Amino acid sequence: MADTRQDDVATAMREHVLLPAQEMARLGTATQPVLTHAEGIYVHAADGRRLIDGPAGMWCAQVGYGRKEIVDAIAHQAMALPYASPWYMATSPAARLAEKIATLTPGDLNRVFFTTGGSTAVDSALRFSEFYNNVLGRPEKKRIIVRFDGYHGSTALTAACTGRTGNWPNFDIRQDRISFLSSPNPRHAGNRTQEAFLDDLVKEFEDRIADLGPETIAAFLAEPILASGGVIIPPKGYHARFKEVCERHDILYISDEVVTGFGRCGEWFASEKVFGVVPDIITFAKGVTSGYVPLGGLAISDKVMARISGENAKGSWFTNGYTYTNHPVSCAAALANIELMEREGVVEHAREISGYFADALASLLDLPGVADTRAVGLVGCVQCLLDPTRADGNDDDKAFTRKIDERCFELGLIVRPLGDLCVISPPLIITRAQIDDIVAILRQAISEVGAAHG
Ligand code: PLP
Repeated sequence: MADTRQDDVATAMREHVLLPAQEMARLGTATQPVLTHAEGIYVHAADGRRLIDGPAGMWCAQVGYGRKEIVDAIAHQAMALPYASPWYMATSPAARLAEKIATLTPGDLNRVFFTTGGSTAVDSALRFSEFYNNVLGRPEKKRIIVRFDGYHGSTALTAACTGRTGNWPNFDIRQDRISFLSSPNPRHAGNRTQEAFLDDLVKEFEDRIADLGPETIAAFLAEPILASGGVIIPPKGYHARFKEVCERHDILYISDEVVTGFGRCGEWFASEKVFGVVPDIITFAKGVTSGYVPLGGLAISDKVMARISGENAKGSWFTNGYTYTNHPVSCAAALANIELMEREGVVEHAREISGYFADALASLLDLPGVADTRAVGLVGCVQCLLDPTRADGNDDDKAFTRKIDERCFELGLIVRPLGDLCVISPPLIITRAQIDDIVAILRQAISEVGAAHG
């Protein structure tokens, strides 16, 4: 039942909830907008306003809000069997979902492990890489190579892989075994061509492997698009070149598709169909349930599994799991979500409309203050820089972008404030007319804030 005491909601939040990004000097003072309900691509605020959900929650509301099929599946499963121990019991939702995901993932990624969300999916993938190399008798092969600007979650291990350095202070998360490569941000090419920039990135990877010793490196962990780090789309050919290097050195290629999976890039998974690589492991979360309930997981290739199972198992036990692994309600929600996406052709729609989306964002490039727009599928951004020749925003640019975000909110659009970016990754069911609405609001907000800046 809806909680009608909206002022009390804001007060209780301020007084009792520790937020995932909390400015500590303002603990107990900052007020978040209170949302009450949602439908389609819109969310409703307690003050009665309807807002377009530009970032689809946190890049997760693929099929939009108020989808009865998913809600019914959740209710039905919760009544029939809300829980079963993954250690001892099988249930239809987990079995059917794993079977389904094996058909959606590329190549021979047929072994699925379910977790509680994206962080635990990546954490489990990394723990798997540890286990894998121990069973293979290579206990020294444990390092993980990641990139600056990458983001992989908030467990101790995944936070240590975070290349968003703003997240580092005051957390003791640095680990010697995690090694950072340069961000593949095309804006960092300077006066190099994109091809030369890519060659340098590959060389850095090769040099790092040579320095550390390939016998010490377990995995390369990478998002296809560095989402939270700034919607960074690596130069063309990046993924295939890195995969080839991994193969040469027997390094697992783990593709973190927590954001890019389940249609976000116009394919069920982006790794192969958009970026041309079949990884050894894919992690997923978010869009698997369209955010209706928490779920994450990973899919591992048969080839990798074969090396450490059966006669190659050497008496080992894989012991990594959660109380809510294989959660029947979450898996039932995911099955209903995928079924709905298939029935309505949501992934095909995202692919078809992606060009329109990219062009619509690019139409803003005539505005002073808009330095860049980027999009793949239905994940995109507008980069706002007071000096468009800068590669990255400084504090002034971030303040400028924050004002644009605030104005968009007043005009009826949620834009995820992410440094100097307005991030737009809407529900995949969005129409052309709704994309036009988003871009019209962005145009008005950027123009007004830009004019005020002189
Ligand atoms: N991996 C990527 C690429 C993400 O963007 C995120 C979250 O945004 C995560 C992992 C962590 O997922 P979760 O917040 O569900 O734990």
